[in-house]
Amino acid sequence: MSTYTKKQVSDLVKGDLDWDTLHRMLSMPKDKERYSHYIAVLQEQVSWDDRIILPLGPHLYLAETQADKTLVTKCECGYEYGDYRKNWKLNALIHVRDSEEKMQEVYPKLMAPDTGWQVYREYYCPSCGTMHDVEAPTPWYPVIHDFQPDLKAFFDWLDLPAPVNA
Ligand SMILES: [Zn+2]
Repeated sequence: MSTYTKKQVSDLVKGDLDWDTLHRMLSMPKDKERYSHYIAVLQEQVSWDDRIILPLGPHLYLAETQADKTLVTKCECGYEYGDYRKNWKLNALIHVRDSEEKMQEVYPKLMAPDTGWQVYREYYCPSCGTMHDVEAPTPWYPVIHDFQPDLKAFFDWLDLPAPVNA
């Protein structure tokens, strides 16, 4: 199994990896070094020092705070959404497109879903305004908790010590 350099993983994250390497990387099982290279590349992209445990989106992370080792959901800008086991969306700014007028900002007239059946919920960082997620549920559906990683199982698989509060 091939392993990849940190430079290759960095090019992957930035979208600069050559096609042959990208194709080979996608086709092969993931090597265990990939995690540490990937996290190191992500860590260089943020201005804070809390340790990134996992990316949850392009600008959203599960991080371990330096102060007391708690595991929090955290925006690239540093804003903290609280304990990673809780749904971070409940601490985001939420914009709901629940009318024809609001849907027409993103769809041409008569092309939007009927908001009696489907609405859009957009989740924004209260500090920097980055849009972290969009849901398209029925209007009555609860705010969706995307996923809760099993960190112990994941770090077992990596053969690395799990975060103390995992
Ligand atoms: Zn932010």
